[in-house]
Amino acid sequence: MNYPINEMFQTIQGEGYYTGTPAIFIRLQGCPIHCKWCDTKYTWKCLSENKISYEELIKKTTSNQKWSYINITKILKNIQIKEWTAKHVVITGGEPCIYNLLDLTEKLEEKGFKCQIETSGTKKIKCSENTWVTVSPKKDQKTLHTSILRSNEIKYPILKEEDLLYLEKILLIVQNKKYRVFLQPISQNQQALEICIKYCTIKNWRLSIQLHKYLLIR
Ligand code: SF4
Repeated sequence: MNYPINEMFQTIQGEGYYTGTPAIFIRLQGCPIHCKWCDTKYTWKCLSENKISYEELIKKTTSNQKWSYINITKILKNIQIKEWTAKHVVITGGEPCIYNLLDLTEKLEEKGFKCQIETSGTKKIKCSENTWVTVSPKKDQKTLHTSILRSNEIKYPILKEEDLLYLEKILLIVQNKKYRVFLQPISQNQQALEICIKYCTIKNWRLSIQLHKYLLIR
């Protein structure tokens, strides 16, 4: 199966439970959600004029709207050519769950990788059983109950205190389960950071600060 890929790179995971873990990022192109504060707006549309070849894609070093259809064999070939050593693969976007990720995650696992998907939770999640699913609910969008129940962590973006109301609603779905909740301030906003620290402390949740942005890495 071919996937529309915006970029692939090796870095350190800067968010949520796996913060600090060396990881290969596979960013898929396409997202119908359109959050106001999205920091990957260049992934929203799969425009044909932005389509490039596999050879061009693997040379990309900056983030932009260019993308390419790539199959799993070529994804694995790129990892091998670049001699990337991380064993954790983050499939992100865009919204990766607009695509069926079962084949991709299963094949990566067969090669010894641990897969993680980062999703808004608004689309049905199709991936291997062992894939770590990070759901990042968007308060103006309809998060699917099935996505919340499938998730391994909830990473919730915060700008204002009232944003927590939607999270409380989401947590009702998993009420009797011990849950990993991460609060993440939007765009390194200082006020949002203070709200996150306050509620992480009160609720015994965890803070996700987008470490890569402080380290000035991809
Ligand atoms: S779901 Fe993710 S990629 Fe899509 S608009 Fe929202 S933040 Fe951006």
